[in-house]
Amino acid sequence: MTPKSHYRVVVIGGGIVGASVLYHLTHRGWSDVLLIERAELTAGSTWHAAAGFHALNDDPNIAALQSYTIKLYAQIEKESGQSVGMHMTGGYSLATTPARWEWLKADWALHQSLGMETRIVTPEEILADCPIVDPTGLLGGLFDPNEGHMDPHGTTHAYAGAARKRGADVVLRNRVVALTQLPQGLWRVDTEQGSLVAEHVVNAAGLWARRVGRMVGIDLPLTPMQHHYLITDDVPALAARATEMPAVTDLEGFTYLQQERAGVLLGVYERNPRHWKTEGADWDYGMELIPEDVERISEELQIGFARFPALRDVGIRKWVNGAFTFTPDGNPLVGPIAGRRNFWAACGCMAGFSQGGAIGLVLANWIVDGDPGADVFGMDVARYGAFASNDKYLRDTTAQFYARRFVIAYPNEELPAGRPFKTTPSYDLQKAAGARFGVVWGMETPQYFAPQPLDFVEQPSSRRSNAHPIVAAEVMATRTAAGLLDTNVYARYEVSGPGAQAWLDRLLACRLPPEGRMRLAPMLAPSGKLMGDLSVTRLAPERFWLVGSYMLQEWHQRWFHEHLPATGVAIENLSESWLGFSLSGPRSRDILAALTRDDVSDAALPFLGCKRMDVGLTQAFVARVSLTGELGYEITVPAAQQRALWEALIERGTPFGMRPIGMRAQDSLRLEKGYGVWSLEFAQSYTPGMSGLDRFIAYDKAGFIGREAAIRERETGSDQRLVLLAIDALDADVTGFEPVWAGERRVGFVTSGAYGHSVGQSLALAYIDRTIPEESVPLEVHVVGERRPARLLREPPYDPRGLRLRG
Ligand SMILES: Cc1cc2nc3c(=O)[nH]c(=O)nc-3n(C[C@H](O)[C@H](O)[C@H](O)COP(=O)(O)OP(=O)(O)OC[C@H]3O[C@@H](n4cnc5c(N)ncnc54)[C@H](O)[C@@H]3O)c2cc1C
Repeated sequence: MTPKSHYRVVVIGGGIVGASVLYHLTHRGWSDVLLIERAELTAGSTWHAAAGFHALNDDPNIAALQSYTIKLYAQIEKESGQSVGMHMTGGYSLATTPARWEWLKADWALHQSLGMETRIVTPEEILADCPIVDPTGLLGGLFDPNEGHMDPHGTTHAYAGAARKRGADVVLRNRVVALTQLPQGLWRVDTEQGSLVAEHVVNAAGLWARRVGRMVGIDLPLTPMQHHYLITDDVPALAARATEMPAVTDLEGFTYLQQERAGVLLGVYERNPRHWKTEGADWDYGMELIPEDVERISEELQIGFARFPALRDVGIRKWVNGAFTFTPDGNPLVGPIAGRRNFWAACGCMAGFSQGGAIGLVLANWIVDGDPGADVFGMDVARYGAFASNDKYLRDTTAQFYARRFVIAYPNEELPAGRPFKTTPSYDLQKAAGARFGVVWGMETPQYFAPQPLDFVEQPSSRRSNAHPIVAAEVMATRTAAGLLDTNVYARYEVSGPGAQAWLDRLLACRLPPEGRMRLAPMLAPSGKLMGDLSVTRLAPERFWLVGSYMLQEWHQRWFHEHLPATGVAIENLSESWLGFSLSGPRSRDILAALTRDDVSDAALPFLGCKRMDVGLTQAFVARVSLTGELGYEITVPAAQQRALWEALIERGTPFGMRPIGMRAQDSLRLEKGYGVWSLEFAQSYTPGMSGLDRFIAYDKAGFIGREAAIRERETGSDQRLVLLAIDALDADVTGFEPVWAGERRVGFVTSGAYGHSVGQSLALAYIDRTIPEESVPLEVHVVGERRPARLLREPPYDPRGLRLRG
C-alpha cells in the first residue's frame, strides 16, 4: 500500500528519469509526492545502461540542459550520501576522414557559443591519453572534459534518496494498473495494492511508457530498440596505467568505448538496428537481458577491433543486449499532454545519464510554475502530432535515427524515413516541375525546383552545394518577376464566436485588426518570453484566422486550449483543410489580376489587406503580404482546390516570368530583408525586446498574457538584440549557433544564415550583446569552423525602405 491516499504528484517509474523528476519536485518545495515502481528502482533500461554521459547534442538548448545534468551529480551524491560512482574521465571523438575532421572543428565552434570547454586535439594527444587506439587514418579529434560514466544503480538511488530526505515517498513492487481522470480533474491511480488520488501524474515508465500512455488514451511516439555492448577481460595496457583512460567514440566506426575496471566496455550503434516490443515491454518483464545477436553487429565489431586492436588479445567477459526507448529524432518526450489536464510525459529518453537531470528540472518547473524555464521545444512532447505514433512511421524514423547516430548530418541533406507521407494535392505536379522536397512535420515541402531533365543529384555538403545556382535563379526570378511558393509550411486556425475578440485580445500582444485586415501578432508567456509569432486576420466581426508554423500545431493548440474560456470561443485547425501558395514579386499583381475579376489594385487590396475572391476556378482568401520583401499575396483555398490553383497560377504566371520556388530561395529572400522566423530567430527563450517583435506589441492594451513582463523589459531593456550581419564568407554560409566574435570576446551567436543571391552577400541573423555599437565594428563569425570577417548591417541590404513590399 502507499503511505497516503492523496498526493500532489504521483511519478510512475523508478528509473533514472522518474527518480530525477521526484528529486526536482522536492527541490522546488513539493514534498507531497510519491514515486511508484512496478519492481525495484532501476528495473527498466536503467540497471544495464553503460551509463556514459556527455553534454554534446545537435540541439544547443538540449546540450545546455545536458551540461546541467552532469553538474548535478556531485550535488545529489552529497545530499543523499549515496555514491553515484562518477568516473569523470573526459572523452575523445575521433576524426578519421577529412569530412569528419572538418565537421568536428565546426562542431567545436558551436560549442563556443554554448560556453562548453571542448577542444580540438591532435592524433598525438589522443594516442598519449588513449594508448589502445590504432592511429590508422586518424586526423585529430575533439576532447570533451565533461564526459565519463556513472554507476546507474547508485545514481538512481542517489536521486531517490535525496528526494526521500526532502519528504518524498517511494513505493516499490507495486504496479500502476489504471488511471482515470475524475470529474474535478484529479487522477485516480489504481495500483496492484489499491487506489489513491493525485493532482498530477507523471509518466516516467521508460520501456513501458507507451503502455502507460494508453491508460489515458494517448499513443506516444516512442519505441524500445535493442542495444549491444560487450565488456572485456583486463587489457594489459590499461591495467598498467595509474589513471583511467578517457572515453573514446569512433564516429566512423559506429562504436564507443569506456574503461571498465582494467578492461573496456565497447558499445555499438549498428547500421542495421532492431526494434524490440514496439508497444512497450511486457508487464512481467524482469531484469533480463536479450540474447546477443553478434552476427548482426559483426561488421561494426570488426571495425571496432581494428580501431582498438588490444581487444583482440583479451577475452569477452560479458555481453549485454538491452533495450531502451527511441523517438523519431532521438530526443525525449517531456511536458504536459494536451487534453489530459495534469498528466505529464517524462519518457522516450535514450540518454538518461546525460539528460535525466535536465528532464527532472524542466518538468518540475513546468508542474510548479506552469513554465519549463527554458526553451525545451527540442524535447517537448508537443513537437509531434498523432501521425508520429503510426507504427511504420515510428519504426522507420527511429531506425533511421539509430543507424545514423554517429553519421554526419549535413545542413542540405533530406533523409528518407517515413516519406513521402503527407502531401498536398499538387504534389505530383510540383514533383514533375522538378521539386526537391524536404519535410516539415511529415509534410513534403519543396526546397527548390531542379532544372529539366530531372536527373540532378544534390551532393550533401556543409558548403554551398551544386543546388546553389538553382536557388540563385529562383531568387532572381522572384526579385524581377514572381516566385510561387507552397504555403504548406503554415498552420491555420479559425477562431470564432461571441468571445473570440476578447479571448484573442488576451492571447495576443498586438491590437486586433479591423475586418478585412491582417496584423503580426506576437504571443507571449506570462514570463514575457515568446510563445508565437502568428499573424491574425479578421474575416468578420467574430471570425479570425491565426497563421503560424505548420510544425507547431500541437504546441500552439495545447497553449490555446490551456487558456480557452469554457464557452463563447471555437477553435478549428484548418492546417490540412486549407492550403495555398504565396505569390510574390513585382509582377504578382499582374498575375493575380489575370486570374480574377476582383479589383486587386493597391486601393482595393492594400498592404496587409485581405479579401475573399475567385482566383481561377477556386474560391480563395487572398491576403496582401509576403515574406520575400516583394509585393505579394498569400492565396489560400480549400485543400481540394489547391491543385487547380497551382495549375491556374502556373498557366497565367509563367508568361510573366514567374517560377515556382522552394524554401531555400525563401530563406535567401527573407535574410536579404532581415526577416526572422519561428524556431530560429523567434523562440521560447527570446523576448520581444531582444527579437524586435516589440514593435508589434500594443503595450497600452490591457490584460494580454505577458504584458507586465513585456512592460518591464521595455523599461529595463534586454541584454541582447537581433542583428543582421554581412559575412565575408568563401564557399559556405552559416547555418545556426555559430559564435560571433569581437576580437577575442564572444559577443553573440548566429540564429540562421543564407547567401543573399540578389545582393551578392553571405548574410546571417544573430543575437549579439546590446553593448556592441551600431557603427561598424570589426566582427568575426565562424563559418564551417573557420573565422571569417563580418560586419553589422544597419539596415537590410535589399530595399531598406520597404517600398517594394508596399508597391
Ligand atoms: C544496453 C544499454 C546501454 C545504455 N547505455 C547508456 C549510456 O551509456 N548512457 C546513457 O545515458 N544511457 C544509456 N542507456 C539508456 C538509459 O538506460 C535510458 O536512457 C534510461 O535508463 C531511461 O530511464 P527511464 O527512467 O526513462 O526508464 P526505465 O529505466 O525503463 O525506467 C522505467 C521504470 O518504470 C517502471 N514502470 C513501468 N511501468 C510501470 C507501472 N505501470 N507502474 C509502476 N512502475 C512502472 C519500470 O519498472 C521501470 O523501473 C543504455 C541502455 C541500455 C539498455
